[in-house]
Amino acid sequence: MSQVIAITNQKGGVGKTTTSVNLAAALAANGHPTLLIDMDPQANAASGLGIQPAPGSSLYPVMIGEKNIHDQIQQTNYENLYHIPAEVDMAGCEIEIAREPDPIRKLQQILEPLRNQQELEYIFLDCPPSVGILMTNSLAAADGLIIPVQCEFYALEGISKILDLIQKMKDQGINPDLRIIGVLMTMFDSRTRLSQQVVQELQEHLPDQTFNTIIPRSIRVSEAPSFGQPISDYDPKGVGAAAYRELAREFLERV
Ligand code: ATP
Ligand code: MG
Repeated sequence: MSQVIAITNQKGGVGKTTTSVNLAAALAANGHPTLLIDMDPQANAASGLGIQPAPGSSLYPVMIGEKNIHDQIQQTNYENLYHIPAEVDMAGCEIEIAREPDPIRKLQQILEPLRNQQELEYIFLDCPPSVGILMTNSLAAADGLIIPVQCEFYALEGISKILDLIQKMKDQGINPDLRIIGVLMTMFDSRTRLSQQVVQELQEHLPDQTFNTIIPRSIRVSEAPSFGQPISDYDPKGVGAAAYRELAREFLERV
């Protein structure tokens, strides 16, 4: 049985894609077969994995019933690491899927055959930064969530919004067992008092839910995608790679 993990936050630019790519790569390198599905029409994840998506290679044709999910899974350059890229067409799901009888469970149904396969341990969903059909489908399909939060002033406000949404999904019976694997603090800058305040506040508010691992701000992390490499490959000895390796270890403890 594979576990479906959504990397989500309705706030933009908090490190969802960076975390999806680098955590998936760290798990794969540790021998855990992982598939990363890009749910965001911005389609940023592929470049971080060194993949140039061809037209029609996303989940979109599967979502509208024209293709089988197995045909869309691509092997990356890395052992145990698989990808289904996104493309701008994905945005069409908002209209196409909305007309169907049970629109919010579409992704859940599509992933069902993959869940029961032995070949994959984890299926990651890199979510878009807006509360639309692609994000709510991801929350409905997920077993667990990772919520990246940028260490900046509005961090707490953003997190209360996503926590409300998760509670709503549970209350409405859409995904009653959905659990938060961890809130992940990203882009931590040890030189600023603000970064330290945000860490302190989050740890006080959500003591059980925050990962102990904190991802530091690192130029190497931000430039790795332009070389088509996860940080574990681009700068294996740096602080960013070390942080994502540590996160992988903590993730495995929590799931
Ligand atoms: P979106 O909401 O648009 O999908 P996102 O939440 O997926 O954004 P990312 O794309 O991962 O966020 O990151 C936003 C920006 O911050 C990117 O330019 C990325 O390179 C940079 N970034 C992410 N993590 C770090 C880090 N640890 N150190 C430095 N820069 C980072
Ligand atoms: Mg993103």
